[in-house]
Amino acid sequence: MAPEAPRAQTPLRRLWLFDFDWTVVNENSDTWIHRAAPGGSLPAAVADSYVAPDWIGYMNRVLSYLAEQGISAEDVRKQLEIIPWTPGMRQLLEAIRDRTPVDAGALASAAAAASSTASSAAATPTPAAESDGSAPATTASSSCEGAAQRPQPPPCSPEHWAAPGAGPFGSPCGSAAADGGGGGDDGGGGLALRGSQAAAILSDANSLFIPWILDAAATGGAAVAASDGGPGSGPGNGNGGKGGSMAADPLSGAFLQVITNPAHVHPSSRGIEVTPHHGPGPRSAAPPHACRLCHANLCKRTALRKLLSELQARGLTSPATQLVYVGDGKNDLCPALELRPGDVVMPRVGFALHKLLAARGAAGAAHGAAAAGTAGGGSKAGDDMVYGSVEGATAAGGKRPGREGEEAVRATCVPWSDGHDILAWAAKQDAAAEVEELRDRAAALRV
Ligand SMILES: [Mg+2]
Ligand SMILES: [Zn+2]
Repeated sequence: MAPEAPRAQTPLRRLWLFDFDWTVVNENSDTWIHRAAPGGSLPAAVADSYVAPDWIGYMNRVLSYLAEQGISAEDVRKQLEIIPWTPGMRQLLEAIRDRTPVDAGALASAAAAASSTASSAAATPTPAAESDGSAPATTASSSCEGAAQRPQPPPCSPEHWAAPGAGPFGSPCGSAAADGGGGGDDGGGGLALRGSQAAAILSDANSLFIPWILDAAATGGAAVAASDGGPGSGPGNGNGGKGGSMAADPLSGAFLQVITNPAHVHPSSRGIEVTPHHGPGPRSAAPPHACRLCHANLCKRTALRKLLSELQARGLTSPATQLVYVGDGKNDLCPALELRPGDVVMPRVGFALHKLLAARGAAGAAHGAAAAGTAGGGSKAGDDMVYGSVEGATAAGGKRPGREGEEAVRATCVPWSDGHDILAWAAKQDAAAEVEELRDRAAALRV
């Protein structure tokens, strides 16, 4: 297929790249679904059957066990709709969505429309490989009944996204996070982003789970969540975006792409099946990769390169577009190494990525490094079940961090604890950039 002609639009000022598990949500969605099993947990023979690095094989064993027990895909979905979100993440994602140019939004909608056509019924075992090679999660969203008909957030007008942010910038960084993001969240403390921005997801979850979760509050499943889910903040999954018990906007359509492992509902068993993102088969979204750092099913760096070349071909990004990568896990290191000076990698404090970046001497990674020392154990184990401990190896390639000759981290490292931290950081950056622009304009007028 010939590449699309570049669009006559200004490239994004910032492109956000989000991991999903333990980043957007405060859990691992793949293991969260164990709770859907009869009695609330899996038998040990299934739960303990993971043999690294075949996580996809493990997931399919879990999912087929659930199907055999009469747990439908809809039951799994309901379980996912109450997964806790990371405090402040919904506010962050909504703030980015509100700065996403209409043209970019149209791309996301087009992806959703195309995929809903491709898999109009969950029961249809359509090959997940899309013509463009990616497997947008919106595909999966649409493959679940009713998803395509759900109300989407109103598109932002060009006036809206081109205008200065509505809310006053003023809250000091971290103020919202200081209280754990507890109840009464006001949607970001009035922090607003400036300039055109958009987001994509790079996740080792799958193309059904992610949109189910992103759109949960819109379906009513998670609308019960009222608070922002900080520790001790009371009931709720942190997904209530507006304070109170109102349903929040569906968010899957707000992303340019969701790059993950394709999943579908099997027509006869009615169970969910997951396919590796990278693989030789027709259901895989992309061909096998050759990266030694990553598990065979997904190299986020390979996927990121493809995404960036597609976005650049569409005129959505340029070399001046700042990339901000937000993640927590070991498989987020590989894409972080793709970032350049001027880009930003944001590792979650206390999780594996932070420790790996600190070990590589990434600028800024020392902040909160004491907490990062807990990564790989304790309550911040994150994806250790999938990738093993940080101490064991960085990933399947077995390379240890901090060795001579290893690829350096070129991006600035900004650790975060919750979405409020990230939103405050970005709002502060954007406000400073706007002051700079005004100063330049004033100087030009004086000349
Ligand atoms: Mg993660
Ligand atoms: Zn890789």
